[in-house]
Amino acid sequence: MGFKAKARKHKADAGEIVDKKAKKAKKEGEIPCGINSCDNFADKSMGGRSLSIDNAIDVWGEGGYTQRKGRVRVCKSCYRKWKKDNKSEDTY
Ligand SMILES: [Zn+2]
Repeated sequence: MGFKAKARKHKADAGEIVDKKAKKAKKEGEIPCGINSCDNFADKSMGGRSLSIDNAIDVWGEGGYTQRKGRVRVCKSCYRKWKKDNKSEDTY
């Protein structure tokens, strides 16, 4: 058994390197970022936020996002982009 377990471990290690890209794409997200040009996840645990439709239009324009229940879920980097474009409003 010992030999088999060792062999399996080796295989797993090698797979990790080969599948690096696939693994990254699969990264535990459940809620896709609402920005159409973005492939990240907007899960709260990953720093995602939700913006109002108006906020999303300001930055990405109509049709540049997908809304969910009247809000636009955005990933961390999209939220940052939005925040940058709305520097003047420091109400947060
Ligand atoms: Zn995004």
